[in-house]
Formats: sequence, structure tokens, C-alpha cells
Amino acid sequence: MIQSLFTLKQDIVEVGKRMYARGYVASNDGNISARLDENKFLVTPTGVSKGFMKPEDLIVVNIDGKVLSGIKKPSSEVFMHLQVYKDRPDVNSVCHAHPPYATGFAVAGIPLDKCILPEVIITLGSIPLIKYGTPGTEELYSPVTKLLKDYDAFLLANHGALTIGTDVINAYHKMETVEHFAHIAFIAQQLGYPNTLSKEQVQKLKDQREKFGIRTTVGCVSSDEDSRSIEKTEQSELMNDELIKKLTDEVLKQIHK
Ligand SMILES: [Zn+2]
Repeated sequence: MIQSLFTLKQDIVEVGKRMYARGYVASNDGNISARLDENKFLVTPTGVSKGFMKPEDLIVVNIDGKVLSGIKKPSSEVFMHLQVYKDRPDVNSVCHAHPPYATGFAVAGIPLDKCILPEVIITLGSIPLIKYGTPGTEELYSPVTKLLKDYDAFLLANHGALTIGTDVINAYHKMETVEHFAHIAFIAQQLGYPNTLSKEQVQKLKDQREKFGIRTTVGCVSSDEDSRSIEKTEQSELMNDELIKKLTDEVLKQIHK
């Protein structure tokens, strides 16, 4: 359901505050938009901190990016947002930010594509990494379009993250999920190689997704498909064998003393 202009403006201002407060954006970074109707979109302005926006700062553009109302200039990424609306009629809001952990993965060239957390598998499936493109140009969003029908969240290489949703809060919550997931994955990585869920465990989550009517692709790598995870299992089996041999040798030594 598409909301009124008044509530949409309120939601965008609120999400801007939350993004800024949580450190997902610095200075005037990031942009948020919402669909008003099939040819009108509300977008955040360029050159304004998303933490300090007022409802009157927001701009209405048409599907070609032409300004229909508003005093300020729309975000330089407005065309990335419009491309999403063209390709995904089910999407009513787009959120772009630079959350540090997710952006860290994007800079390191590591997609968030391991089947690690059940909630993430259910809501997002996987978060693919999109190759780098110059911000504010078609180069940035044209590689996204190929994966748009399959996913609701993306890492933009050497840049940040992009999430899409049925409304402003839904798109923003996906941004929170991406950053939370990246933070947990980062900690797990520091503690050792993260354990991934098996194909069978992922299948049970896929069944739950179907019940919730979530149709995007799961696409994450399970432990059965993760070569490093298999390597780890083999390594621990090898370690067990070595340990057994060492213990046996020690026992035999003691007996023959
Ligand atoms: Zn950006």
C-alpha cells in the first residue's frame, strides 16, 4: 500500500535520523527514496546531512528524474533509485548508506553470502557484492539491475550498501540487518572461521520463507558447498588422527618402560 505524502516524508526524515545516529552515514552521505505513485517519487536532497533533514527538504521527481516539486537538488544517486522502481514494481522504497562493517566487506571484496544466521537467510537470503562503479553514474547501478529480481540487499564494491523494500521502514530495516550481519560475521571471522549451516538446515529455512511468501533467492553458501568449511572438517579429522596416534605412542612408551 502506498502511503500519503505527509507520512512518507515523516518516515524518510525518521530513517535519515536513525541512519545518521547509527553511524551508517557520515556528513551528507546516503540517500533514501519512496514511491508516491507510478510516476512520482520522493527523494532525499544532495548536500544535506540525513540526520538533520526537514520534511520540506525532500524532493518529488518523475520516473525520468525530472524535479516536479521541492526547493533543493535531488541526490546524485536518484537514477539508481529510479532504476530499482522500474525493475521492481513490488518495491516502494530504496535506501543507500555506508555502514562501516558492511562497507568493510564491500571494500575487502567479500560478499555476505555464507549461510550463517537463520534470520538473515529468511529475510534476505544472501547479500551479493556488486562490482565497483563510479558513484552518481550509470556505472554504479547497471550491474545491480542483473541481480535486482533475486535480492533485496546488495554490497556495492568500495562504496557501501543498497537495500530495497515494500515501504521506507522495511527498506531501512534491511539496511540494519545487513550491517548487523556484517558485524557478527566480522566477529566470527576474528574468532576463527565461521561455522555455516548445512544444506539440510538451510532447506528448513527455505520452507519457512515459502510460508512467509518471501520469493527472493536464498543464494547463500551452505557448509556442504563451502570448500573452506569442508577443508576445516577434514583438517579437524586429520588433527584427531594425529592426536590419537600421539596418545597411542605415548601409552605404548609408558607400557614398554
Ligand atoms: Zn554512497
